[in-house]
Amino acid sequence: MIRRVAVYCGSNVGADPSFAEAARDLATALASRGIGVVYGGGRSGLMGVVADTALAHGVDVVGVMPTHLVRREIAHEGITELHETATMHERKAMMVELADAYVALPGGVGTLEELSEVLSWARIGLHAKPVAVLNTGGFYHHLLEFLDQMVVSGFIRPHEREMVSDHATPEGLVEALCAATAPRPTEDA
Ligand code: AMP
Repeated sequence: MIRRVAVYCGSNVGADPSFAEAARDLATALASRGIGVVYGGGRSGLMGVVADTALAHGVDVVGVMPTHLVRREIAHEGITELHETATMHERKAMMVELADAYVALPGGVGTLEELSEVLSWARIGLHAKPVAVLNTGGFYHHLLEFLDQMVVSGFIRPHEREMVSDHATPEGLVEALCAATAPRPTEDA
């Protein structure tokens, strides 16, 4: 059962309006299933779009931000809870802890770092939660190819490559996450 999804995404909105549209649609698809959001706690870029949309649909939005960023007044003031951490490292660990699944929307190097970390942590067994990327307009095409190349070159195994799924639409992504975490019927049920 998924209660909260960590959403990693750009602190900018990106050059194409389809990115903000995808962020809105993802938050809407999550909220329509009662699923809340854990995210970086900011109000800028796609982060702000995800937080505002989720709040407008009445689900919890939990932000996790290092104190030095909060002081720079870039924290979103309307969210349900804002956790402050001493460092960026603590922040990422707390986001991992608080979420039942991880989703990367289009973003920059911060998003790439967060996605890369949850994937490498899955690989070494630190968590067993689903990781998914929203490949809006093919944004993640080259990264997905690079992951395939890691398999071909013998640096990751095929089952490790499969620890991240990619999806063309927000609705498809959320459906897949829910299916992946649905309780399995017991054998005698
Ligand atoms: P980027 O993709 O480089 O724009 O970085 C966005 C990601 O890094 C988000 O998922 C956040 O968790 C984190 N992050 C980077 N910059 C900020 C910021 N100004 N406020 C809050 N989180 C940020």
